[in-house]
Amino acid sequence: MNAAFQHIRDWVFDLDNTLYPARALYDEIGERMTAFIARAAGASTDEALFLREHYFHEYGATIVGLVRHHGIDAREFLAYVHDADLSVLTPDPELRDLIAALPGRRIVFTNGGGGHAERVLKRLQLDDLIEGVFDIEHAELAPKPQRESYDRLIQVRGVRPDRAILVEDTLRNLEPAHAMGFVTALVGPVHPDPRPAYVDHWADEVKTILRVALGL
Ligand SMILES: [Mg+2]
Repeated sequence: MNAAFQHIRDWVFDLDNTLYPARALYDEIGERMTAFIARAAGASTDEALFLREHYFHEYGATIVGLVRHHGIDAREFLAYVHDADLSVLTPDPELRDLIAALPGRRIVFTNGGGGHAERVLKRLQLDDLIEGVFDIEHAELAPKPQRESYDRLIQVRGVRPDRAILVEDTLRNLEPAHAMGFVTALVGPVHPDPRPAYVDHWADEVKTILRVALGL
């Protein structure tokens, strides 16, 4: 192991655009969200699209605004919108080998819900390597980067932040984690310059971070 990662016992991964490229699913999930909101809120497609984006920016997750302002059932919404065609996803054997080589627990921490993470992990053939999924339903609808989301993860999963890493493609989600003591790793194309102090490691993709961590 690389010395900077030797103390890590809990490997906490975001899901979408961290463990797989989610672009292939986003259009379909987005359309399902808009259709659900239009139907449930009695809105036009344009209004529904506006609400979807407005609540996402306002609350960090569209569902939070839908529950608060429209009384929409979160379980029903999350199950419906995430029922996307996963046949476009392909397993990555190299990623699987790297995750399998990590010492300690691997946890997926996502703002998704409705069984999305479990289905995607199964499709990616990573499900047997992940000890648990902690999604927005487990977090009682507190999305990252709200502090409550991390607090609930820590409490429910028994994560010790000073022995954990969070690997994420969304920059803003790393800030509270770092403040709580997590090592942080940013993956993906977003590389702010200068690098914020709350980003400990960064790379174009998760496999690069894991190779560095494993000293490969
Ligand atoms: Mg993500």
